[in-house]
Parts: sequence; C-alpha cells; structure tokens
Amino acid sequence: MKIGNTIYLDHQATTPIDPHVLAEMVPYFSDSFGNPHSSEHCIGWEAARAVEHAAERIAQLISADADEIIFTSGATESNNIALLGLVRRAAGGERRRILLSAIEHKSVLAVSRILGRQYGFSVEQIPVDRDGFIELHALRDMLDEDVLAVSVIAVNNEIGTIQDVRQIAGLAESYGAVFHCDAAQAPVAAFPDGIFPRGAILSLSAHKMYGPKGIGVVAIPREIQEKIEPLIYGGGQQNGLRSGTVPVPLCVGMGLAAQLLTTDDAEERRVALRRHRDAFLDGLKSLSWPISVNGPIGRARHPGNLNVRFAGFAAQEILSALQPRIAASTGSACTSGFPEPSHVLRAIGLDSYEAESSIRFSLGFGTTDQDVDNALGMIDEALKRLSTLGQVSSA
Ligand code: PMP
Repeated sequence: MKIGNTIYLDHQATTPIDPHVLAEMVPYFSDSFGNPHSSEHCIGWEAARAVEHAAERIAQLISADADEIIFTSGATESNNIALLGLVRRAAGGERRRILLSAIEHKSVLAVSRILGRQYGFSVEQIPVDRDGFIELHALRDMLDEDVLAVSVIAVNNEIGTIQDVRQIAGLAESYGAVFHCDAAQAPVAAFPDGIFPRGAILSLSAHKMYGPKGIGVVAIPREIQEKIEPLIYGGGQQNGLRSGTVPVPLCVGMGLAAQLLTTDDAEERRVALRRHRDAFLDGLKSLSWPISVNGPIGRARHPGNLNVRFAGFAAQEILSALQPRIAASTGSACTSGFPEPSHVLRAIGLDSYEAESSIRFSLGFGTTDQDVDNALGMIDEALKRLSTLGQVSSA
C-alpha cells in the first residue's frame, strides 16, 4: 500500500480508513445529523438507532452486550476511565493494589502513576519474559484478596506479543479482582472468537482497526459498571459513565469497522498479512546485514508486526534515510516524539543501544508483494548508504 510514493508500514500507529466505513459515515455528517440524545423527536430517534446499531456490532466483535459499550475518544481515554474510574470508586476500600505489566501502553502506565501518587494505591509490575509474555506463575504469586485490578495489554503495539488474556482474566477473577485489558491492537491481530476475555473491561480504538480517528470504546460488563466512577460529568449519557453527546458518524464508522473484522474475509486478510510479514522477514534475513527479531516468533504474534534490530545502526538514522519512501517507526507513535529508548524493549531485556537500533515495521491489509519487494530494496540501499557515509552508530 502506497500513500503517494511512500510505502506505508506503520499500521500499528494508525490504519487507513476502510472506504466502506467512510461511505457509511458520510450521511451522518449531513442528512442524518440528529442528536442521538434528543429523545422527543424522530430525527433524534434515527441518530439513536444508528448509535445503537454501532454498539451492537462492536458488542458482537467482543462477545459483549450493546449496553456494555461506552463510546470514548479513543483507547487512551478508555484506559483512563477503566483504571482511574475503578480506583476513584474504590478509594476507601480494602483492595488497594493494582497489578500491570511493564509493557503496557503509555496511557496505562501514565495513569497508573497517578493511582499511586494521588490515591495511594500500590501499583506493581507483573514480570514478562524475553518475548513479552506475562510470567503466569509470578502473577499467581502476586494475586491476593487485596488486589483491586489487573491490567494487561492483549496485543503489544511494539513487539506484537499476543497474550493469553483469557487465562490471565481467569486468574484475576479467581481472586475477585477486576481484569482490564487494553485490546486496541487485538481486533486486527486475531480472530475475535479466539482472543477477547469475558467478564473483563476492554479498551478499543477505531483508528487501529480501519475505522476513524477520535473514537474508541470502553466495554464495561454490567456487573462492573457500578464499580466505576465517571471521569466526565454532564447530561448523564451512556449510563452516566461518560457524559456528552456521542459523535454519531464516528460511532457508525467504528461499528462497521468492527463488523468487517468478524467476517471470513477478515480472516483471509489476516492470513495474507502474516504471509507478507513472513516474506518481509525472510527478505530481511537474506540481505547481508546482521538483524535480530524482538518479540516472539510464531503464531502468538500480531500477523502484521515485525520489530527488528539492525545491529550497529541507529534506528532514527535508518528511518530518516528511508524518507520519503518508507513510513515505519521506532515503536509507539505516542512515545516516538521523545528521544528515550522504548520502555517495551527495555522491559524484555534489551539494553538502550539495542533498543535504539530497533525498528517496528507494521504491515497492513493493503500491503502487497510489490511493497515488500520494494521496501527490501530500499532498506538494503539505505543501509549501504549509511555504512559508506560512516553513520553507523556505536549501537
Ligand atoms: N493502547 C494501545 C495498545 C495502542 O496501540 C494505542 C495507540 N498507540 C493506544 C492504547 C491509544 O489509543 P488512541 O490513539 O485511540 O488513544
């Protein structure tokens, strides 16, 4: 998939919107512009029906019910509602520990620091192994009746690790703890029936799944909703959990994006994605540069994710040398404005030089054989150029 002359290999930062999704959204910007919370007239009812339909489609993706779907501005807000919301409601209670992994997205890690600093909760890290898998025996040892919540990312946005979140959810629940799962990267990565844990709070983001930016969902099981203190107060929309008028076109877009990922066609796309990613890795291995893969090899990895370390090179230099021909990144787009090495790569045991020589390529449903071949040629050429220019880092 090319954007102008650029091969786009950064789908875990954001995906392009599916044209069918965009087409279904358009009428809700113009003709069907009603406020879904206007309960006294037919224009409002029509908008409300569209939002309800979208919630049903998203609920179907994750095996929830439509009234458990709370629309937010994206997974960052969803993660904040889940963790801050739980802690604010439980502030005076007996359960005062939160367990999470060191490879969570920044939006989980940043809010967890507030839980410690402002609310006095003990926020503890569940160890991960070299591939980013949760050490289940360590989690088992850490769990007790004083744990309020366990939060684990379903599919890592940097190294692609697909966690067994169902097993983790089961463990957490056996101690009466709430399980929260940042599932923003999960809908593209895996067949829905095989991944989403039941009874958990789930965070999703439309722009990671071929939907529009600016919308996400926090799915909160009915029996857990009363354990969440809202972060936004107002007209009491969405069961009072997130006040404010919901953006109907964005909800409609996210609804269709979710539905499209439940089809057989989506499963075929995941298979093709894996094939392209594997061909890309084989191609990189056949070039004469020393590379190593960060994260797991095999099926428990996002089919479009490839995080590769180019020993002796600085990732930033490679990425600049590839401009404007390839768009990839050093990791999480939310982090890459900062010069610090990836916290995920550090957590799986890489030193800062190794982390700074690593690039995340994330292929998408639109990536072609031609893109893979062309990208390999461009990378080889860029590395040759950097070597002859003497820009090889001390990494
Ligand atoms: N969680 C994960 C795993 C992500 O990949 C992202 C996006 N980088 C987010 C949360 C934040 O999502 P949003 O951009 O919708 O706020």
